[in-house]
Amino acid sequence: MASVLDVSRALRYPGQEFPFQAEIEIEDMEFAGDPIALKDVSIQGVVVGAGERVNIRGKVESVLKSRCVRCLEETQMPLTAEVDAVYAKEENPDDPDLYQFEASTIDLTDAVRDALIMEIPMRILCKEDCKGLCPVCGVNRNLVSCTCQEGGEVANPFSALKAIVLNDEEV
Ligand SMILES: [Zn+2]
Ligand SMILES: [Zn+2]
Repeated sequence: MASVLDVSRALRYPGQEFPFQAEIEIEDMEFAGDPIALKDVSIQGVVVGAGERVNIRGKVESVLKSRCVRCLEETQMPLTAEVDAVYAKEENPDDPDLYQFEASTIDLTDAVRDALIMEIPMRILCKEDCKGLCPVCGVNRNLVSCTCQEGGEVANPFSALKAIVLNDEEV
């Protein structure tokens, strides 16, 4: 997979920046209870070695696919993030932000996914002024306009019944 980066040169020449570019596959996931997918994920950056550690810095681009919280329609938007991650060979419980690696390759997937997740908006909207669903009849107000009045009188099935009863009494 392209998400694995060979860092042998960075380890051999510490302090020197080695540019790289990679495409990354990220599995679909749940975010705040909604299914989301991160597609067309790519990173462009540099890798720098420092002893038994490597630092990757770069810019991530992707397409976020999810559901609009107002109208529940599927929606997608570009999502970018900055990555600045340190990979270490030794495990360090005091520093949970470190990513692990062995030998001379690092797997970019976790660092890239973590950086993108930080950028996902809490409320995903298909568009800024999405009108959402009508709370009375449930139509998508972006597509159809209904005449329901929010908080107003909802048609009462008993009013028709009441009229019939009154008529009976009159007879
Ligand atoms: Zn919407
Ligand atoms: Zn309505």
